[in-house]
Amino acid sequence: IVSLDHVNKWYGPHHVLQDVSLEIGKGEVVVICGPSGSGKSTLIRTINALEPIRDGKLLLNGVDVHGKGTDLNKLRQSVGFVFQQFNLFPHMSVLDNVTFAPIRIQKRPRAEAEALARELLAKVGLAEKADSFPGFLSGGQQQRVAIARALALQPPVILFDEPTSALDPEMVGEVLQVMKSLARDGMTMVCVTHEMGFAREVGDRIVFMDQGRIVVDTTPELFFDAPDHPRIKRFLSDVK
Ligand code: ATP
Ligand code: MG
Repeated sequence: IVSLDHVNKWYGPHHVLQDVSLEIGKGEVVVICGPSGSGKSTLIRTINALEPIRDGKLLLNGVDVHGKGTDLNKLRQSVGFVFQQFNLFPHMSVLDNVTFAPIRIQKRPRAEAEALARELLAKVGLAEKADSFPGFLSGGQQQRVAIARALALQPPVILFDEPTSALDPEMVGEVLQVMKSLARDGMTMVCVTHEMGFAREVGDRIVFMDQGRIVVDTTPELFFDAPDHPRIKRFLSDVK
């Protein structure tokens, strides 16, 4: 579903993605981790064409993301994105937050969009909050709404950038639980996270980045039980 082939990107003189190659198949859950500043956010933002690349090739569902003539609006509808900050529309009800893009961008009939939204809110455990406003919800609830909103476009892949790191500790679990159930349903997911318990339990693969490079791309078993790179050992002892 996602394919990066020797992708390079610079911020001025800073070579922020160095020769990054990565293949993500349908239904896979890939966890991206690594120290701060290693390029994790930049990597997933390039998948969504939020950031341009200098060279290399990036395909999403067979579409050349950074190709000339690619319809970026259409492309972004085919990727869900969940941020650290939930970025809900504060002046809209939970239901309207979830139906906004399907109605306005995908031009789906309101009744159909609302039926799907209610189904998704039930899935993230917030059926009874449809008419609430984001300001009245806890951080964990807001992030679950943000996940429902991402799902509303029925994307083939969802990208998560540290979805739990802005949350109070007692709310982390409920968001991870929702992500776990998506994974069980076969959703293709790329998750930047420091939640190593989630990574081990749910990840099919762990991609470790350091200084703009993918240092290892391996299974959770090998990553956690036999980290063979000094940088990974240091990282694991820091996050625990
Ligand atoms: P964190 O764990 O702190 O979120 P990260 O792995 O997500 O880090 P990125 O945000 O991708 O790292 O940043 C990679 C590098 O690129 C960092 O050195 C950062 O300072 C730099 N960088 C990020 N965004 C920009 C920008 N818009 N302009 C210039 N430099 C940037
Ligand atoms: Mg980041």
